[in-house]
Amino acid sequence: MEAVQNEKGQISIHTENIFPIIKKFLYSDHEIFLRELVSNAVDATQKLRQLSSFGEFGGELGDLKVTVSLDEEAKTITVSDNGIGMTADEVKKYINQIAFSGATDFLEKYKDKTDDKGQIIGHFGLGFYSAFMVASTVEIVSKSYRDNAEPVRWVCDGSTEFELTAAEKTERGTDIILHIAPDSEEFLNKGRLQSILDKYARFLPVSVEFDGKIVNNTAPIWTKSPAELTDEDYKTFYKELYPMSEEPLFWIHLNVDYPFNLTGILYFPRIKNELRFQREKIQLYSRQVFITDEVKDVVPDFLMMLHGVIDSPDIPLNVSRSFLQADSNVKKINGYITRKVADKLNELFNADRKAFEDKFDDISLFIKYGILSDEKFWEKAKNFVLLKNTDGVYTTLDEYREKVQANQTDKNETLVILYTSDRKQQHSYIESATRRGYDVLLMDNVIDSHFINALEQKLEKVHFQRVDADSIDKLIDKGLNNESVLSEVDQTKLKEVFEQVLDNKMLNVSVEAQPTDELPVTITMPEFMRRMKDMAALSGEQSFYGNLPATYNVVVNANHPLINKILTEADGDAQKLLVKQLYDLALLSQNMLTGAELTAFVRRTVEKL
Ligand code: ADP
Ligand code: MG
Repeated sequence: MEAVQNEKGQISIHTENIFPIIKKFLYSDHEIFLRELVSNAVDATQKLRQLSSFGEFGGELGDLKVTVSLDEEAKTITVSDNGIGMTADEVKKYINQIAFSGATDFLEKYKDKTDDKGQIIGHFGLGFYSAFMVASTVEIVSKSYRDNAEPVRWVCDGSTEFELTAAEKTERGTDIILHIAPDSEEFLNKGRLQSILDKYARFLPVSVEFDGKIVNNTAPIWTKSPAELTDEDYKTFYKELYPMSEEPLFWIHLNVDYPFNLTGILYFPRIKNELRFQREKIQLYSRQVFITDEVKDVVPDFLMMLHGVIDSPDIPLNVSRSFLQADSNVKKINGYITRKVADKLNELFNADRKAFEDKFDDISLFIKYGILSDEKFWEKAKNFVLLKNTDGVYTTLDEYREKVQANQTDKNETLVILYTSDRKQQHSYIESATRRGYDVLLMDNVIDSHFINALEQKLEKVHFQRVDADSIDKLIDKGLNNESVLSEVDQTKLKEVFEQVLDNKMLNVSVEAQPTDELPVTITMPEFMRRMKDMAALSGEQSFYGNLPATYNVVVNANHPLINKILTEADGDAQKLLVKQLYDLALLSQNMLTGAELTAFVRRTVEKL
């Protein structure tokens, strides 16, 4: 065997090998070639504008514009600009060297002079080559802004060979001519190009013309200062983004330049229609170029329900998801947006409590979701998150404690908060509770079961009970026992009669002394058991509680006159009928009596009458 020689060296990259990789895999979406070329053309005009402002260009700027044109016959798409142009040397430098960005070069050169580094889009030095995703041959015809510059023509057929020759061009600027490849002819279509431009070029800072019309709004409002803008401006812009949507509730204008760069407007929509929700998303821009509306990871999860735009050149765009999550800028952006949203909500709450309450049902989902998912958000939200009771009265957490403390503290000094998840179905239980002077909260949102769990963990000595979790005296156990009119012996007898007639192992019969105005029989499911089952159902997973058959408590009110009648009834059939009717009535008041059982109950009742 030959001995291995120790050696150090350099891995050489042959451009022949890397070029097809760039061409095929740089971007998964081929349509973005147009975004890249138009962005370069915009950069070229912006650079000229900047040079002019530094006094390095003394000529006429004229009407700076980018033009996209389609020639179906010649099978070409051309992107033209009257910007900075390129000399032959610049073409060699910026175009022939892949991954060498002229934009970065420009910024480096003028870094002391330019105050607005946000104007130049490019910085990867790869965008131009995306042209080869759709073109078999690409031509550049360019004339630099410099005095007496010789126009130049560069042609490349996608191999590593190029041709550079003198060209005829009288006007300053660049034409990029794409000879569309046979497999990309779908792009030789006016409608298709129009829609690509609408998507990516809609808010570019330099006019872009296609088919005789300007396709973009060069000064979208997120680039302006809030002081210059009226409510109408914000609403109009919202309509521009989401033409089919209802007016937003309110909005937040984001603007930060340290330690990262970010501008944007987030709108709080009215949550009416879950479907629409999915469709209208936050749009992510980088220097006014549309990047994506998949903002997952950039925006905190709970704020994905908002609408609007975020523009940041500091978000790495061409990297994988897992990298994005780990990126420290992205983390800071997340934190910043969360804080801004919390501050805005707090401001609205303090400024006009009534108006905040009016909007609360529409925004409670974000707020609760935010509380569940973000500790920092909770720290602020605990002051303005509202609880709504069955009378439609809103209170803050502190106000609520104050309000119900005296009447709803149990024998263990725990504050028991009562709630209903369905005011129709649980109506009789709500009524029992309010008859006791208890307050009942309305917790009928999909997120409320999680919200309740979170509050129990965050607040001290607070326990939530659904109104049908126990009989009224046990719901808030104050350690007081009602006198029973029945003897121990009678109570045991009664329990046996019920167990015998109902004949169901899943039912726990108990006899309790309750006020006579309570129902003779009530059915309850313990809070803990019900929550576990709800959660198992929500997660859809197999679990212990999910598989456990539902057991219910059947509470027989010892003090109710009808119950006494059961005991004294001598006729066995009549006694059985009475038990059955009272039990069915209890089921009925909980909406649990259905199907054949319901039919039988109706029939029995009719016969009896
Ligand atoms: P980036 O835009 O990230 O710098 P590109 O690959 O898109 O990288 O472009 C490479 C370079 O080619 C640009 O930085 C610029 O110097 C030059 N260039 C491309 N298109 C034009 C144009 N229309 N006018 C002038 N220069 C251009
Ligand atoms: Mg570019």
